[in-house]
Amino acid sequence: MPLSSVSEPTVSHDTMWGIQKPSAAPGIAHVRVPIPTVGPKDVRIRVTAFAICGTDLHIIEWDRWAESRIKPPLVFGHEFTGIVESVGAEVALVKPGDRVTGETHVYCGLCYACRRGLAHLCQNVTILGVDRQGAFADFVVIPEGNVWKLHPDIPEEIAAIHDPLGNAVHTALAGPIAGLRFSVFGCGPIGCFAVGILKASGASWVAAIDRNPLRLELAERMGADVLLNVEKDDVAGSIVRLTDGRGVDGMLEMSGHPQAIRDGFESLANGGRVSLLGIPSAPLEIDVAKEIIFRGAVVQGINGRIIFDTWYRMQELLLTGRLDVRPVLTHQLGWSEFEKAVELQRSGKAGKIVLKRDHA
Ligand SMILES: [Zn+2]
Ligand SMILES: [Zn+2]
Repeated sequence: MPLSSVSEPTVSHDTMWGIQKPSAAPGIAHVRVPIPTVGPKDVRIRVTAFAICGTDLHIIEWDRWAESRIKPPLVFGHEFTGIVESVGAEVALVKPGDRVTGETHVYCGLCYACRRGLAHLCQNVTILGVDRQGAFADFVVIPEGNVWKLHPDIPEEIAAIHDPLGNAVHTALAGPIAGLRFSVFGCGPIGCFAVGILKASGASWVAAIDRNPLRLELAERMGADVLLNVEKDDVAGSIVRLTDGRGVDGMLEMSGHPQAIRDGFESLANGGRVSLLGIPSAPLEIDVAKEIIFRGAVVQGINGRIIFDTWYRMQELLLTGRLDVRPVLTHQLGWSEFEKAVELQRSGKAGKIVLKRDHA
């Protein structure tokens, strides 16, 4: 067993800065909390940059989902990058000073799903910044099994968004792409990333659908061939017409909106695949016979990222330069501008916002 400078789980009484959901109500607090301790298989990371996810907005606004899931007080946030500060005695993968990010689904490794190689579907999953202390803080602790060591050519702002980019990679690569036509519903950062991944992987034609003109513009910069605005376009009809009556071979659903799901099925070619990542806020009705059975549709639920298959493929797409996600990174701010970033994101006037450490 490799020895390291830390032989026992350390208990630190020092405190750190963090952004916390202090109580079961809307809002956040900038607080000082104890620096998390490091168990024998844990890695403590000094966070250098993070990004705000839609999930974080739910936690900040305290909607029904947040109320049912989050147990305040909790330092939240899960999209991050940083530098290893200390490691537990049994950790072999990384050492202090390594640049890393992490898979945010902490899996048990022992359940039926994990033992079948489906750790992203772990029955006992705990999610960073949702079920356990998150990354909007000076330090975050994750198990060694969740650490992703960064290639030196991956810049910090892209390292900070590996979590949502991984969602897009997992969704897009969940079926054949080359020489096929696609629709992407919902052009938030994940939808825009997905457009770029599809094009980098040989998709012949990609239609991007949203209601926000800025998001559609970002999708265009990521390579979308056609932009459809649900406010003014007949989305399903246009896709069918523009694909010579065939419909698309694949539909990636990133919005969770019932109308998007309906339009997506309606404009799907017979035998096409539907990859659903966006989460509907309530159960919805679908004509199973017409849209799935007789269409021969392949319908997939997409959850998280395949650990670590998605990560290796994401790295290759980035390092080869085939995938350039920079158009989606519309803002880079400092941690002290957290509230401003939340406002920007809420207003829909931003793509992905990365916040970098601006205090010692
Ligand atoms: Zn996220
Ligand atoms: Zn498990």
